[in-house]
Amino acid sequence: MTTLFIADLHLDDARPAATDAFLHFLRDEARGADALYVLGDLFESWVGDDDPSEAGARVAEALRALSTSGTPVRFIHGNRDFLLGNEYANRANVELLPDPSIITLDGAPVLVGHGDLLCTDDTAYQQFRAMTRAPGWKAQFLAQPLPARLAFAEQARAASKARYGELKSAGTSETITDVTHDTVDATFERYGVDRIIHGHTHRPAIHDEGHGRTRVVLGDWYGTPRYLRAAGGNLELVALA
Ligand code: MN
Repeated sequence: MTTLFIADLHLDDARPAATDAFLHFLRDEARGADALYVLGDLFESWVGDDDPSEAGARVAEALRALSTSGTPVRFIHGNRDFLLGNEYANRANVELLPDPSIITLDGAPVLVGHGDLLCTDDTAYQQFRAMTRAPGWKAQFLAQPLPARLAFAEQARAASKARYGELKSAGTSETITDVTHDTVDATFERYGVDRIIHGHTHRPAIHDEGHGRTRVVLGDWYGTPRYLRAAGGNLELVALA
């Protein structure tokens, strides 16, 4: 059994080379795998399934080709693409899973999720997350005409860029709050798992969390793209050349 995991590709039309790299990954490394899990932030932003980006269209076609070849693709929302809905999922032939989800890997339960739920020290973000994930907020946002939603996303991007600039000039490159260790421990306990796989923090590593527990953090695709390969009980973060 070989299962692959990726997250935080942040694809959009501004970085076509990243989309090219992903399509190559789908045709090459992912081909023949038993499953591919995309743990959020596949896209830099998503304003609804009528999103007109070329990246969205190319990715849907390539994901469908992979699943048609026999490798099912499962997707968990990230904080950037949480508005990705059933229409796009059907077009791309991917299965949407709740965050978190428990899957079985080599006969043992494993918790998979985007990872933002583990970053409980960032209370402002958790409040924003709760507000925007409410069905009412989502419905109201998606009811706006596409140009208004695109303008909103552009504004959010500009605000986030400005914030990043502020942090950078303040000498901080840590723009995404890391996980809270108590929350990680509580999550292992609550779900009765020994392995957690997530993204979001852009700090790729395989952590030994003690008590026989392992937490894998997937990398982003801004620099060297990485994926997690789980095969025969082994977990390996593989960098794409
Ligand atoms: Mn994220």
